[in-house]
Amino acid sequence: MSEHSITEQQVLDALRSVVDPDLHRDIVSLGFVKDVKICDGNVAFKIELTTPACPVKDLMKSQATQAVLQLPGVKSVNVEMTASTRSRSIGAEDLLPTVRQVVAVASGKGGVGKSTVAVNLAVALAQLGAKVGLLDADVYGPSVPLMMGTRETPPVINDKIIPIERYGVQMMSLGFLLPDDSAVIWRGPMVAGTVRQLLTDVEWGEKDYLIVDLPPGTGDASITLSQSVPITGVVIVMTPQDVAFTIAGKAVAMFRKMEETLRRPIPILGIIENMSGFACPHCGQVTSVFAGKGAKYAADKLQVPFLGSIPLDPNISVSGDEGVPAVVAHPESAQAKAFREIAQALAAQCSIHSMADHTLLRDIPYMERG
Ligand code: ADP
Repeated sequence: MSEHSITEQQVLDALRSVVDPDLHRDIVSLGFVKDVKICDGNVAFKIELTTPACPVKDLMKSQATQAVLQLPGVKSVNVEMTASTRSRSIGAEDLLPTVRQVVAVASGKGGVGKSTVAVNLAVALAQLGAKVGLLDADVYGPSVPLMMGTRETPPVINDKIIPIERYGVQMMSLGFLLPDDSAVIWRGPMVAGTVRQLLTDVEWGEKDYLIVDLPPGTGDASITLSQSVPITGVVIVMTPQDVAFTIAGKAVAMFRKMEETLRRPIPILGIIENMSGFACPHCGQVTSVFAGKGAKYAADKLQVPFLGSIPLDPNISVSGDEGVPAVVAHPESAQAKAFREIAQALAAQCSIHSMADHTLLRDIPYMERG
């Protein structure tokens, strides 16, 4: 076959052998392949992924290159990897019409590292190229300002609060608006009103991901968020103890109950295990700190994805207190790597759910919105 006879169809047929491992379909039928150009045996095309934080970006690029190189007459292959973040289904009255994915970070109880995880995931997603917002909805104890190292007062333009940007993430927290020593006695309707305001009065703008740090447990803030916005889903942070497992199980059950009551899907995007063993800084040996079967076991039992574990590391605590998240302060550390991998696994889950969502939308009448 002469090199001039390479056709776009041949290139596309070759690329059908490349399958997205999360979406279980080939990249051609998924519509990922764009702008195929063939010139004198040199083939160039784009692969547009569903998230810039795609965990299999490099693998797909090399598989696609190999598949096309095997065509007779092909001299070179140039693949450009791009991304357009898939969107949840946005209805006419959605409070966040310009936000593609809304992910709530929850825990059954306080102190498991939920805020630490929310902050590091938000920054990791931004480092991977996504446009990220971070909403601190933990109104009882907003810790995002401390962990992100800023106490600026957000400006107000045209009656909208402009989020504060740090480490590539635009964020909003009640902590920016309340004086340090203020004590607020929260009642249910106040929590609901405040969370609604943090959604509507803030200029969130175009975002790929909005990460929402919920208060521990499933109370008024979780209900208001899920009522106000069709969220992509929830991730649950737990420590490896059995008690934490019981509590995480309760959180999953409560979100499932909320889903029934609100008649709106609230998918559990996965479980994250935090403080899952101590790596000795001297000898590297990992010691289990908590007794218990761990989050992987919990995820299997609860039939939800396990997104990964983050080791217990004094640096995480120090960087949190100093206002520099671990993924920025120690980007090469094991825990930063863990946060990046979990951010990618989470982004993959968002893509999976958005695909499923679009299909489901046609079939389930109660999901009609607007
Ligand atoms: P929560 O939001 O669940 O109440 P935080 O994120 O505020 O928990 O974390 C509680 C404390 O634990 C903070 O001091 C934080 O720095 C620390 N911490 C969280 N995760 C880790 C970890 N993997 N290793 C060491 N310290 C951690």
